[in-house]
Amino acid sequence: MKICVIPGDGIGTEIVEQALRVLEAVGDRFGRKFDTVEARIGGIAIDTDGVPLPEETVEKCKASDAVLLGAVGGPKWDTIDPAIRPEKGLLGIRKALGLFANVRPATLFPQLAHSCYLRPDIVAGGLDVMVVRELTGGIYFGEPREDGESNGERYGFNTMVYYEHEIRRIARVAFEAARKRSGRVCSVDKANVLDVSRVWREIVIDEHQSGYSDVELTHLYVDNAAMQLVRDPSQFDVIVTGNLFGDILSDEAAAITGSIGMLPSASLGEGNPGLYEPIHGSAPDIAGQDKANPLATILSISMMLRHSFDMTEEADCIDRAVAATLEQGFRTGDIMQGGARLVGCRAMGQAVLDNI
Ligand code: NAD
Repeated sequence: MKICVIPGDGIGTEIVEQALRVLEAVGDRFGRKFDTVEARIGGIAIDTDGVPLPEETVEKCKASDAVLLGAVGGPKWDTIDPAIRPEKGLLGIRKALGLFANVRPATLFPQLAHSCYLRPDIVAGGLDVMVVRELTGGIYFGEPREDGESNGERYGFNTMVYYEHEIRRIARVAFEAARKRSGRVCSVDKANVLDVSRVWREIVIDEHQSGYSDVELTHLYVDNAAMQLVRDPSQFDVIVTGNLFGDILSDEAAAITGSIGMLPSASLGEGNPGLYEPIHGSAPDIAGQDKANPLATILSISMMLRHSFDMTEEADCIDRAVAATLEQGFRTGDIMQGGARLVGCRAMGQAVLDNI
């Protein structure tokens, strides 16, 4: 198995280092060999290559079976030309690899219930939502787009457009995911206002009828979905939605768990290597201080083994090791609570290794 490793910026290098130690340990334990090749993206690529996504990085990813990414961005690149900002590297690699589906589980670990921003009685029914977000279409990519000036005033616009094939394939990802969970999909749109959303809803319904009627399908407007997520998150299993709404709802679902340092994600396409990364950013405020929580990246490795390599046992082993580490009271600063044992990034990685 060949994995392209792209640490990126800020805490990216620290968390990826721990995740790779875990990968190696799992490989040793289960007799698997993982070859890794390193590549650049984001700010470090801007400094070295002049662009956030060098062609060499795209080629290395395409020649791999999966991609592990740390995080991109930082204040150093906040004021540069928007056309080559670090985040363009992320959008670019998703596009180049045809990764149209972003799958983000937002799970509340029982050991971290104290971190959750919601009242205990609200999460008593559990918080285990999977947001399936369309990633390569919608308003982030639609044309025309413009930032201009007319009659002495500035204006800007973007276009939200979805084609039937884009909606069908993301709906299929959601229905398939639901079949492996509790069999429910909620499609989120703004069909009461947007034409693009009315098409979205019709196509999702059609795809559902043409092969997934065993899955329960419901629909919510995005404003209501945002509210329901904090009012009663246990009503959701899989949420499927477009790029813009998914960006916001997946962050909301993650944020209410109170632990963005714990949450992994996968970006998947058809036949291309999947890309696995923590949901958080490069955390410049704690970069280089051995304070970052590596668990989201370690759990991203688990998702990689499960989704790209069909290694269920190996993935379960990582998940159990992370749960055991939390159970033993190891905590980085972001998930610290009284009575627990405050550790740094490296020591947290070591604790997971010991449990493996
Ligand atoms: P962020 O996720 O980097 O940080 C938000 C807060 O959470 C910070 O206080 C940070 O210290 C903390 N945090 C994040 N990850 C943590 C971890 N693993 N362990 C402990 N604490 C953690 O978001 P931000 O501050 O809004 O953005 C910082 C930079 O990251 C920006 O340049 C932004 O564009 C970029 N960014 C990149 C990605 C990505 O690479 N996918 C995602 C979001 C933001």
